[in-house]
Amino acid sequence: LAFQVTILGTGSATPTLWRNPSAQVLHADGEYYLIDCGEGTQTQMLKYKIRPGRLQGIFITHLHGDHYFGLIGLLTSLSLGRRTAPLRIWGPPGLADIITLQLKYSGSILSFMVDFQAVDPNTSYQLFENDYFTVHTIPLTHRVHCSGYLFREKNHPRKLIKELLPPDLSTEHLKRLKEGYDVLDSSGQVSFAASQLTKPAAKPLSFAYCSDTIFDERIVPQLKNVNLLYHEATFLHTMLDWANKTYHTTALQAAQIAQMAGVGQLIIGHFSSRYKDATPLLDEARSVFLNTLLATEGETYAVTEHETATPPPLLP
Ligand SMILES: [Zn+2]
Ligand SMILES: [Zn+2]
Repeated sequence: LAFQVTILGTGSATPTLWRNPSAQVLHADGEYYLIDCGEGTQTQMLKYKIRPGRLQGIFITHLHGDHYFGLIGLLTSLSLGRRTAPLRIWGPPGLADIITLQLKYSGSILSFMVDFQAVDPNTSYQLFENDYFTVHTIPLTHRVHCSGYLFREKNHPRKLIKELLPPDLSTEHLKRLKEGYDVLDSSGQVSFAASQLTKPAAKPLSFAYCSDTIFDERIVPQLKNVNLLYHEATFLHTMLDWANKTYHTTALQAAQIAQMAGVGQLIIGHFSSRYKDATPLLDEARSVFLNTLLATEGETYAVTEHETATPPPLLP
């Protein structure tokens, strides 16, 4: 099972030669989902060998250009590649109108169906689920409606201990054991105990994507114990006033969110073009939350369990 995220863009709105605007690809149990689609996302996918044809769906957080200006290009390229599988796109109300208008005036008819799902930015709710994971929205506070996304694995089945399994167990019985139930005989006695024949399942993992937002503690409860948190950190804390004015977060504040939520690991990104070297942002975040990484384009990050980030207090 793979649950990992590849980062394609780490910049914010002003174009630079050293960063691309926001885009990430989530790989969840063999399926690929794009999260945000800034300008140049399709060339970044080419560069890092992620086949756009494999995308099952696209999540757009908000309608600032650095988060979706690559979408029309990607869609028309998928059509050039003769995609036939329907593509679901979750995004703010208005996105469907924008894309439809662009297609209309370029005389383009896509080779596949696009299923637009408007996201309600005001409340958190479950958007989607499949056998493997669920997706909830995280309402963010930005200059326009903006939703983050929380991807959570479902509970894994318990693991069978192969050496101990009697040879004559039916598939139905194996299924029950994996779900944690005992197998009973006709008189109601336990013939096979789940506690003896299985091991506990691995804990379900979670990844949260919080794109553009002002520092907002209201999201903390939703992020509690998330294994991997991506949070924007556009500015250093010396620019707090400007961060507030533009509804963005400082590196220090992103780390405070991670600290309060007790997440396993924090990745910061969406850096202002003024920071060609993002190391000062990393240092600032690490002063509050040690297990912080700088988002790096082309890097893949596994969603995995981490030691709790705060060391226990030393005994006197
Ligand atoms: Zn942005
Ligand atoms: Zn924005």
